Amino acid sequence: MLKKYNGRKHPLNYNTIYEMLVMTILAARDSDRRINEKALELFKLVPNMTSLSQAKAEDILPLVIPQKDWGNVGMGLSFLGREICRPQKPKCEECLMNKICRYYLGGVLAKD
Ligand code: SF4
Repeated sequence: MLKKYNGRKHPLNYNTIYEMLVMTILAARDSDRRINEKALELFKLVPNMTSLSQAKAEDILPLVIPQKDWGNVGMGLSFLGREICRPQKPKCEECLMNKICRYYLGGVLAKD
């Protein structure tokens, strides 16, 4: 793997490990091109992990999800909660969000 990919330019235009981490997570839900475009704006607002942890969701949300989609996202989350992400027994293995879900990834990572 190292021999094959060593020195290859990554399609995400990150400058730091923090930026790589954030952009990789976002890229699971959108194209590399769009993440590269939005990242400049996002990292002006939240340039590091400390600022990200203190940022308000309403400041970041428009950079990640276009405002025209907020209603659909809310509806999707509602259906996800009703059909898949149940409080007592979430169906994580079949969930569309399991590649980015901290709960699931924490559990998966803890099992490894
Ligand atoms: S992966 Fe996350 S969002 Fe999906 S069902 Fe499990 S806990 Fe819920």
